[in-house]
Amino acid sequence: MAFILARAGAAHSIFIERITRKAARQKTQAATGLEKAPTGSPAGAFLILTQGNGNTDMNMPLNTELMHQEAESPTAHRQEMLLPTPAELKQQMPAADSVIQQVRVHRQAIRSILRGEDARTLIVMGPCSIHDEVAALEYGEKLKVLADAVSDRFLIVMRAYLEKPRTTVGWKGLLYDPERTGAGNLNEGLLRSRRLLLNLAAMGLPLATEALSPLAMDYLGDLVSWTAIGARTTESQVHREMVSGLPMPTGFKNGTDGGIAVATNAMKSASHSHHHLGVSANGAPVMITTRGNADTHLVLRGGRGITNYDAGSIERAVGALEEAGLGTAIMVDCSHDNACKKAERQLDIAREVMAQRHAGNHHIRGLMLESFLEPGRQDDGEELRYGCSITDPCLGWAQTEALIRSL
Ligand code: PEP
Ligand code: MN
Repeated sequence: MAFILARAGAAHSIFIERITRKAARQKTQAATGLEKAPTGSPAGAFLILTQGNGNTDMNMPLNTELMHQEAESPTAHRQEMLLPTPAELKQQMPAADSVIQQVRVHRQAIRSILRGEDARTLIVMGPCSIHDEVAALEYGEKLKVLADAVSDRFLIVMRAYLEKPRTTVGWKGLLYDPERTGAGNLNEGLLRSRRLLLNLAAMGLPLATEALSPLAMDYLGDLVSWTAIGARTTESQVHREMVSGLPMPTGFKNGTDGGIAVATNAMKSASHSHHHLGVSANGAPVMITTRGNADTHLVLRGGRGITNYDAGSIERAVGALEEAGLGTAIMVDCSHDNACKKAERQLDIAREVMAQRHAGNHHIRGLMLESFLEPGRQDDGEELRYGCSITDPCLGWAQTEALIRSL
């Protein structure tokens, strides 16, 4: 038996037919004019014939003696709009050498805390999502003043989250739909996202994002010092491959069900080298070979009504990391399911976790807080309250500042 792929005939359908090697050779010769059928074909397979558009669909079931099926490409189901390549956007909006150097220093400082070489606590804080660049810049200015004032005890990194994973549907972030019309405008979103990160970096702030699209990382990642992989994507192979090739420390959240095995598996996977499909900075399809990322860690964010910031949960998480042969650095996300989506609860959680750290739990290396200028959240709409989140509820600035100074 032979597995032969040939273009033939006038039909618009694909035929799959079980044939002998000899018959396959004859059919291929007839169809293509080739002297010989391809060699090295696995036995017991099928002949696939396509016409005209060269569209051979290899995903068809192989256990049917004869099939007729319309070949339809995934591209028939979507519209495409050309975007600048990462290289083009960076050329248009370059990062100054001083900013590149600053990001290198910030990444190294974060690494040192996670590795236990720097006794300070890492705090990743800022809005759940950024929908208004002006408010984000005002927040950044305030945060920089606070960060400098407490820099002997804390390394503060600003959440500059431009992509939002949604449980079902909803606004997906400034990068996708900067005007929030639902129409989406990635061209504008990429420009505005990069401009915002450049402006925040110019204040001297280390920046954090959640990496949702591996392609987006190539447009913005040079400005990012710490990355999160969210609870909904920690289990995804594509995200693990991406992290394996990232140059910055990266936190994997526990799963939405509260389980941490997905995160320990993710850390193991991302520490290895991978080969994967991707796009180069110049927009060409490429095979990417990654180095493996040695600076990943667990972020505990609770799940399905269960919190995991208490001493017992953290001890169990440390045990699981040790058993998996992984580093035991832990960041506690004081928001999300740990706060049961009630922003104020972050205050008590942060104090409780810092108390554990002060009592000697050196595995706790970081906190995450959701904080913006105004407390709470609001639904998106016509009359928006300035500086208030339109995704998860946040601490307001006054609460945030008082908390950090008191920790
Ligand atoms: C977030 O950090 O805003 C977020 C969406 O987190 P998680 O993936 O834990 O839900
Ligand atoms: Mn959030």
